[in-house]
Amino acid sequence: MKDIKKPKKMQLIFYAAIMFVVLILNAVVFPALINQSVKKVDYGTFLKQVENKQVSEVEIQQNQIGYVIVGEDGTKTVYITGRMDDPDLVNRLYASGVKFSSVIPDETSPIISGLLSWVLPLIIFIALGQYFGKKMQGKMGGLGGGMAFGKSNAKVYMEAQTGKTFADVAGQDEAKEALQEIVDFLHNPNKYKDIGATIPKGALLVGPPGTGKTLLAKAVAGESKVPFFSISGSEFVEMFVGMGAARVRDLFKEAQAKAPCIVFIDEIDTIGKSRNSSGMGGNDEREQTLNQLLTEMDGFAPDTGVVILAATNRPETLDKALLRPGRFDRRIPVELPDLQGRESILRVHAKKVKMAGDVDFNMIARATSGASGADLANIINEAALRAVRMGRTEILHSDLEESVEVVIAGYQRKNAVISMKDKLTIAYHEVGHALVAAMQQHSAPVHKITIIPRTSGALGYTMQVDETEQVLMSKEQALDKIATFMGGRAAEELVFKTVTSGASNDIEQSTKIARAMVTRFGMSEEFDMMALETVNNPYLGGDTSLMVSPDTSARVDAEILKIIKSSHKRAADILEENKAKLHELAKYLLEKETITGEEFMAILSKQEC
Ligand code: ADP
Ligand code: MG
Ligand code: ZN
Repeated sequence: MKDIKKPKKMQLIFYAAIMFVVLILNAVVFPALINQSVKKVDYGTFLKQVENKQVSEVEIQQNQIGYVIVGEDGTKTVYITGRMDDPDLVNRLYASGVKFSSVIPDETSPIISGLLSWVLPLIIFIALGQYFGKKMQGKMGGLGGGMAFGKSNAKVYMEAQTGKTFADVAGQDEAKEALQEIVDFLHNPNKYKDIGATIPKGALLVGPPGTGKTLLAKAVAGESKVPFFSISGSEFVEMFVGMGAARVRDLFKEAQAKAPCIVFIDEIDTIGKSRNSSGMGGNDEREQTLNQLLTEMDGFAPDTGVVILAATNRPETLDKALLRPGRFDRRIPVELPDLQGRESILRVHAKKVKMAGDVDFNMIARATSGASGADLANIINEAALRAVRMGRTEILHSDLEESVEVVIAGYQRKNAVISMKDKLTIAYHEVGHALVAAMQQHSAPVHKITIIPRTSGALGYTMQVDETEQVLMSKEQALDKIATFMGGRAAEELVFKTVTSGASNDIEQSTKIARAMVTRFGMSEEFDMMALETVNNPYLGGDTSLMVSPDTSARVDAEILKIIKSSHKRAADILEENKAKLHELAKYLLEKETITGEEFMAILSKQEC
């Protein structure tokens, strides 16, 4: 309890300091100020000025005379002179027509002036002290230099109306359907109360970044026409212990006052991490915050009309207590959009910009498999920016195509200096990919080949676009994919009899597929359907951890190598068989820098006839 003594000591010091300052003010500063503004003159000067009718006002005090002279420019100057025993003074003043008075020595004045000069400053200082003290408390998170805990001033973002509706969210039909019930409840709770149903207190939106979780939460508030409180998980966890919990308390207090409303906790994983996952010591602050959240969620009755939505892309790390019935018992997946979803997201965002009639949204959607809603919104915006750069007033299909590539591979590096020899190597490399892809049964068609370097570091690339969305990947497709990746390097070897660093990304990608085939997809003979790897966080990059003995791990590696080697060989064979086409296509590409899938196929089939 040593904290209790500390504030008192601080206060004593504080008041002592104030007394000191007031003392200085009264003893030195005020008199000096007064002396400065008043001119002292001798009695003779005073009499002369009265006779010359310069003086306009005189006040006779007990032992001094104060008077005012108004200058020609209208400024008033106050003079003081000592009071002489001058019986004629009144007559003199009367004669010169001065307004004059005598002040009765004021008996109470010491008290009043004492009050004014001692107590008033004290009050002002104390008020100031309290004000700044409070401010400091706010800033320092309740630990204002030993002063008592304060209110947390939780940074809650309250929007009376979010202005978003379900129409702003394209695709995500399952998520919308699940949330529709919450909207309905907020609209007319009685329907649910009458039958005795309890609406879920909380729903957890789970999915990869950029899929529209935040947008959906806002849309729920917008559809229900209720206030929207939002706070991000990371804001709960601050420097000072106890703040997070205080914020949770404040948030729920405010929300309950504004019910019906929606409370949205973004990135809930930052506070909701499983309490036993951090091992020894743990994180006290986070645990306190989480405990407070659990308490608050239990604390209010389900019919208060406060609905809690939360979003996360790491659901596997959440504490089980958060997920039990009565808390976030609803779990709403918000997945990456499928082909149709992507197309409708593009259309929703296209409404906000000026589009030309030639835009093929379906094609763009097909070319952006794996893109999130945020990526697609970005693509539309990039296209609009490009259209402006080109001096157009509408967005053309070509703008969209280019912006897809910008989002995938970065901007074109038009002035990158690449030697002719390197350009030739890159051309053969890319045509190698394209040829292997075209000569296989299970590869997606080639859409575009380019050797214009991009800011992402890509020196060129071959874009393949599927006709339809692939949900499953067969073993044949996987193997063809790997062989296509190998095609670039295989072409370099065939033509230049040497290898370059240009295949590093191909190597990485193909190894990833081969590893997944062995460890997760059960596509190897050696391990059959044995699970060797688990995915740690499916929504964030999807890194995996191997769960096998070192011995098995070595055999897994051998199996992966076997797949890669045989695919490499297959790619080399395909190119060997089509060597003439390889040369012709590479020359054409070198000349044109970018060729379309149609041009590519035209050259390919022309040779075959
Ligand atoms: P998350 O919270 O899941 O990371 P956001 O809700 O913040 O993603 O989405 C970011 C942006 O992406 C949104 O503001 C919106 O412009 C766009 N977006 C994402 N998903 C969709 C969708 N389904 N429909 C329309 N726009 C979307
Ligand atoms: Mg978000
Ligand atoms: Zn390559």
